[in-house]
Amino acid sequence: MHEPHAQTTSPNWADRAAAVRFDGRSLIEGQRQASAHGETFAKCSPVHGRLLGPVARGSAHDIDVAVRSARAAFEDKRWSGQPPAARKAVMQRWADLILANREELALIETLDMGKPISHSLSVDVPAAARAIAWYAEAVDKIYGEVAPTGPNDLALITREPMGVIGAIVPWNYPMIMASWKLGPALASGNSVVLKPSEKSPYTALRLAELALEAGLPEGVLNVVPGFGHEAGEALALHPDVDAIGFTGSTRVGRRMLAYSAQSNLKRVYNELGGKSAFLVFSDANDIERAARTAVGSVFFNQGESCNAPTRVLVQQDVLAEVLAVMGDEAKSWPAADPLNSSTRLGAVVDEAQLNSVLGYVDQGLAEGAQLLCGGHRALSETGGHYVQPTIFSGVHNGMAIAREEIFGPVISVIPFADEAEAIAIANDSPYGLQASVWSGQLDRAHRVARALRAGTVHVNQYDEDDITVPFGGVKQSGNGRDKSLHAFDKYTELKTTWLRIQS
Ligand code: NAD
Repeated sequence: MHEPHAQTTSPNWADRAAAVRFDGRSLIEGQRQASAHGETFAKCSPVHGRLLGPVARGSAHDIDVAVRSARAAFEDKRWSGQPPAARKAVMQRWADLILANREELALIETLDMGKPISHSLSVDVPAAARAIAWYAEAVDKIYGEVAPTGPNDLALITREPMGVIGAIVPWNYPMIMASWKLGPALASGNSVVLKPSEKSPYTALRLAELALEAGLPEGVLNVVPGFGHEAGEALALHPDVDAIGFTGSTRVGRRMLAYSAQSNLKRVYNELGGKSAFLVFSDANDIERAARTAVGSVFFNQGESCNAPTRVLVQQDVLAEVLAVMGDEAKSWPAADPLNSSTRLGAVVDEAQLNSVLGYVDQGLAEGAQLLCGGHRALSETGGHYVQPTIFSGVHNGMAIAREEIFGPVISVIPFADEAEAIAIANDSPYGLQASVWSGQLDRAHRVARALRAGTVHVNQYDEDDITVPFGGVKQSGNGRDKSLHAFDKYTELKTTWLRIQS
């Protein structure tokens, strides 16, 4: 996820926001519906603290109805039995509809979770549409295999959809995270029950409505909003769900494995948290660009990105220069109204997250780190949840602000002496999602990139991102890979068919 180069903006977002419809009812078997017991929860906007609307509080019963609907759709082959080219056509129409409804989706996303409208418009909506379109395009280009067996047999290796997929996603990129699951799962013929985060439920529901409009048969995609310990747990424990595609915290990812063990041993694919390291060596060709890139890569999306490089490791002899540039760059990320087209740093998702981020700031100070900038709540008069862009210097890797995922606009700068120490600090983390190496020496860049334990390593850049490449981590950052053709591995089973050939 990276900042757009060109922004398409409009000056009237606040006016348009007033006209947006927030429908928090579930979508099951093609119908919008209240939860079975009529229960709802209130969803307020982090932008101004005001109520957006009631959201259906999905229960175990609602999940069961949704899973039954998805199972029936899978078994009667209304979707799984269609030729790949036919599924492709529906999903391409769906991607087109997402783009056609770009402004509405972007406004919902911004009001729901606080990211700047220019980013919702230029990053989130196009990325979701591209994921759906890309998997649609891919699905009729994947072939099976014929095994090199003897002359009297034919052994076919084919990929089959698994059945019913449970998708459980977080709030930080609601549309993008949903589309990374829905693209490969639906393109390969599965049915899906999607549980969006209770902190950002609306765009997932709207995406599913657009899928129906595009021609996805009813029941193939059901969306049940609700809380993690209720709807989420019921989905992960359901005995008729074949696999869980989970994106969220490492804490809950651990539970997913337990739910699988307690139920039907369903496959679990975990995409979890991160504390990515950004290594700046003094031989980097452009120290200033490195420092500015580090700041932008963390503050984008209010620091609420799993892959944000929140540990910036800097070689001692360029530390003063890097800190000066970082402090300067932070000035161009003031917290501001997300509905203003020029805003780069919006609101954090809710009050609990605000308090958690500020709690980490207090802990960092208590442990002896120094604030280079920020550290406080901002714009409290708006009723929204804003944090100043915050940079800590003098951090060592044992401090909580260096070890734990803060998920807010907070950077920890950690000095190092030499290459060996930089690698040791970078790898001294329970996480292993991404990393970045800045060096003008080709051999050092390669050597360090090889030594870093991370799912993705960037060299002299950060945050390049494309649907064509896998995204995921090692260690406690998870085990699955979203994006790219590898994502089909998660949602298909390999089947071997032996045929006897009479000679
Ligand atoms: P979270 O783990 O609290 O919640 C994620 C989802 O799980 C939500 O839908 C939630 O309702 C549900 N959930 C919570 N408790 C549950 C339970 N007991 N049983 C079943 N479901 C439950 O995470 P979050 O706060 O929504 O998201 C932030 C986290 O997501 C961060 O750790 C971030 O790094 C991670 N993330 C990872 C990636 C990646 O690709 N690796 C991408 C985005 C976010």
